Amino acid sequence: MSVLEQFQKRKDFLICIDSDGCAIDSMNIKHVQCFGPCMVREWELEGWEEAILERWNKINLYSKTRGINRFLALAETLKEADQNFIRIQGIREFSEWCGQTDELSNQSVEKKYQDCGQQVFQKALHWSKAVNKAIAGLNEEQICPFDGAPEGIRKAYQNADVAIVSSANEEAVKREWNRYGLMDSVDICLTQSEGSKAYCIGKMMEKGYARDRVLMIGDAPGDRLAAEENGVLYYPILVRREAESWHRFIGEALPYFLKGIYQGRYEEERKQEFEENLS
Ligand SMILES: [Mg+2]
Repeated sequence: MSVLEQFQKRKDFLICIDSDGCAIDSMNIKHVQCFGPCMVREWELEGWEEAILERWNKINLYSKTRGINRFLALAETLKEADQNFIRIQGIREFSEWCGQTDELSNQSVEKKYQDCGQQVFQKALHWSKAVNKAIAGLNEEQICPFDGAPEGIRKAYQNADVAIVSSANEEAVKREWNRYGLMDSVDICLTQSEGSKAYCIGKMMEKGYARDRVLMIGDAPGDRLAAEENGVLYYPILVRREAESWHRFIGEALPYFLKGIYQGRYEEERKQEFEENLS
């Protein structure tokens, strides 16, 4: 039986929490230390490093495309580099393929390279593998929860069922949450192996929670969308203001949610602030 099938509702309220960039400060370090520098190395962009890394971080962390797939981000950044700095061989073909394929993964890039033999696909795959290796080599101590997140998750667990809803790898998520004792405040862990975030929230709804008693906490537009597709509430953790967001959750959003007054003006204000913070 899957964890979803086994799960039994404990409380009337459900709080879903995304992991990367929301509870755990793992996105910044991965982009700043792994994704961007590996791209500069692979395409020998050292001469324009500062400007190109700034664009990489903007696209992946600080704008509406936050949380975008790595290959889509790569296509966009290289397209701009090609326009502004240096010719990138095959960038048009790579962008076109990214826009058309129904799978963006190491496997699909590898298959495309085998089919067409164009070097840009080989380089993209080489880059992606180098990124994974760099991430695996990060010091685990550098990846920790945002200030306020452990307390927020504990308070959530005292009043509601708590689900991790993440599109990351299950083992990595559990390892990070366990390392800081956060799993003690979690009822169910739903990750990429269970399905998309929207799918997981939908499956949890089948356990019988009322829509206005379900809150998704996230940091990216995809999290908001997953909540809205299921007609449930959304609370944003704002990038660069994560600790402030968690403390606001503890002092304001959680009590409002439990009192049934979260929906409406308060939620709209939070969503507005979220959009402005990513522009
Ligand atoms: Mg996230």
